[in-house]
Amino acid sequence: MPSGESPEHDSPEQDFTGRESQLRIRLAAVRTRVESAAAAAGRHDDLPQLIVVTKFHPAAVVRLLAGLGISDVGENRDQEAADKSSQLQDLELRWHFIGQLQSKKAKSVVKYAHALHSVDRPQLVTGVARALAAEQDRSGRGPLACFIQVNLDDDAGSHRGGAAPAEVLKLADQLASAEGLILAGVMAVAPLGAEPHAAFEKLAAISSRLSAEHPGATGISAGMSQDLETAISFGATHLRIGSDILGSRPVVR
Ligand SMILES: *Cc1c(COP(=O)(O)O)cnc(C)c1O
Repeated sequence: MPSGESPEHDSPEQDFTGRESQLRIRLAAVRTRVESAAAAAGRHDDLPQLIVVTKFHPAAVVRLLAGLGISDVGENRDQEAADKSSQLQDLELRWHFIGQLQSKKAKSVVKYAHALHSVDRPQLVTGVARALAAEQDRSGRGPLACFIQVNLDDDAGSHRGGAAPAEVLKLADQLASAEGLILAGVMAVAPLGAEPHAAFEKLAAISSRLSAEHPGATGISAGMSQDLETAISFGATHLRIGSDILGSRPVVR
């Protein structure tokens, strides 16, 4: 987070003019990268959905993004996402939950999330389905799109979350038969310190096996600031971009 800017200083009176023009420029640069990568992959008419990852950035910044035409934002911690989404209820934003999720947080996440990108185990499917059913009774909210997060790391020590590739189809069957949950596809984070090429190639193969069984589940949530071009070349349908639009985050959390 840039210095001098924290959620505590998140007042509408604050002068965000400089911040807005910076965001506009960075956003345009990312859009240009996305368009050229899509063109290079023969996907001119098939641009991926841009999700701006706003973790650690205050609600006022999310509001600026909405003013710049952003409709989809990503968050990885429930408390932070719940706070920001409730402050921004007047905007028509879709909130994507992209972080590891404890089952006990499902009740909160289903209140604001349009999509969940980090389904990685059977107990979470059960917990989310139960929480969603209760929330649908309460508020009448719509279904929840779910991506199965796949672990693409062969080295168990540097695990970045996700189900093992061999578990994906079973998890998909469970998800597809759960009331209110829509099986959207797969999600992954490229392993740290390795070329993303092999990882996204593997993800594309897993995705095609999945969509052979579940024809609607064609989503591929992949691609971050550093590797969006590679992700697009391997069929990413949803990009999760944070730092190249918002600037760097604090390293320590
Ligand atoms: C933070 C985060 C991103 C965004 O990463 P950047 O490198 O800042 O673009 C994408 N996906 C997940 C799961 C994240 O936690």
